[in-house]
Amino acid sequence: MADLAKREIRTRFAPSPTGDLHVGNIRTALFDWAYARHTGGKLIFRIEDTDRERVTDEYIARAIDTLKWLGLNWDEGPEVGGSYGPYLQSQRLEIYSEWANTFLKNGDAYNCYCSTEELEARREAQRQANQAPGYDGKCRSLTGEEISRYQAEGRKPVIRMRMPDGETRFTDLIRGEVVFEHKYVPDFVLMRADGSPLYTLAVAVDDVLMKVTHVLRGEDLLSSTPRQIRVYQAMGVAPSDYPEFAHLPFVMGTDNAKLSKRNGEVSIAWYREEGFLPEAICNYLALLGWSPGDDRENITMEELVQLFTIERVNSSPARFDMKKLEAINGDKIRALSIEDFLERALPFLITSKAITGSDAQVSLVKKALPIIQERIVRLKEVIPMLSFLFVDQVEFDANSGAKIGEADAQKVVAAALESLEPVSDWSHTHIETALRNSLIDGLGLKPRNAFGPVRIAITGSHISPPLFESMELLGRERCLSRLKSAIR
Ligand code: GLU
Repeated sequence: MADLAKREIRTRFAPSPTGDLHVGNIRTALFDWAYARHTGGKLIFRIEDTDRERVTDEYIARAIDTLKWLGLNWDEGPEVGGSYGPYLQSQRLEIYSEWANTFLKNGDAYNCYCSTEELEARREAQRQANQAPGYDGKCRSLTGEEISRYQAEGRKPVIRMRMPDGETRFTDLIRGEVVFEHKYVPDFVLMRADGSPLYTLAVAVDDVLMKVTHVLRGEDLLSSTPRQIRVYQAMGVAPSDYPEFAHLPFVMGTDNAKLSKRNGEVSIAWYREEGFLPEAICNYLALLGWSPGDDRENITMEELVQLFTIERVNSSPARFDMKKLEAINGDKIRALSIEDFLERALPFLITSKAITGSDAQVSLVKKALPIIQERIVRLKEVIPMLSFLFVDQVEFDANSGAKIGEADAQKVVAAALESLEPVSDWSHTHIETALRNSLIDGLGLKPRNAFGPVRIAITGSHISPPLFESMELLGRERCLSRLKSAIR
């Protein structure tokens, strides 16, 4: 194991954005970031975009935007630069090709001329014989004659790494001692026939050249580690300089299946659109496989940095729990100052066209926010909660429309109107007194039956912010006119 006292800790986050970053990616990024910040080391952000058909510029831009939105930052990477760039693998193709050729020259790798069909046929035979499928070493030691024949046939070789007999052993910082017997790690392709590198080559070369000391990444990549270590060897890296590995536990869905990109609620973009706060997402994801050492559920980014150690990362799978995330989000919303809450809520109201964003509207929203702050768990809920303040006429949803037409409801609305007309000081306390007098004392109704129809008449829905405060915000004229138009 390397003498860590001598080297600065360098972690890296290396996504291949073939879509929006998902929960698993972000959990990895957050842990990489927290580890770098905790140790005073560096975080490198590298884009693994050798597959340019699937990793597009747009996805890369969105990945950067998402990470910044979450409050993460990095010391080296696209945009910020650094001494070991470029940080986009698509700009490093020559480096990979040079190394693959060096491996060829040194005999660590060899040209393999087997065609896809031949490989598939042999793999099928292995399956039939109950052997582990994998490359059988056919091209390991071709004669000059065989090579000439393949070339004459027009075959283009891939470059394949020679995997020696034996095993690879390393200490994973989360899982402990891990051993891979090489009979299960066949010779693997480094470069395709068209000269494009494979993940194993690019990732290992970059981790070495970028002087990465700690690879924290998802458990799904554990099995690629012996191949990467083989590349380090072939590059001539001393074992004491290999990066340390820490494979983070899987994130499972509530149904115990692995969360995947195919699952719609996995993309961080979705959480953002729903109105989850970045600090709530980070708080929740921090607890997904890591623990601060006590059972607190509320944690700030500063505390995460202060407390984050790999020893406290759990090796068993973590289960994603939407309810818990929502609870944390609700807590974080309640903790916002009104100015901050306003700033975060406005984009939702404007994008949904509930408001245009005029000064008058903004100041009304600001007055309304305190009465809903306790009641929402996602920012997006401000739209249905506050829209009634900004429409000329309420639109009843199907249920409420029918309800308000009922005879009992009509009687309530008429009584409410009559009691409110004389109220000139339009404060929620006066409104409440008038309505209680007329509906509860006067008509002898239970609060639910009394205020339900008034709520519908005022807001169009049976779900709304607190009624009397809502009426104060809406103003006397508009309230009276809504009550009038609810009477049929
Ligand atoms: N680019 C790889 C991925 O997105 C991760 C590489 C790594 O962390 O080693 O899955």
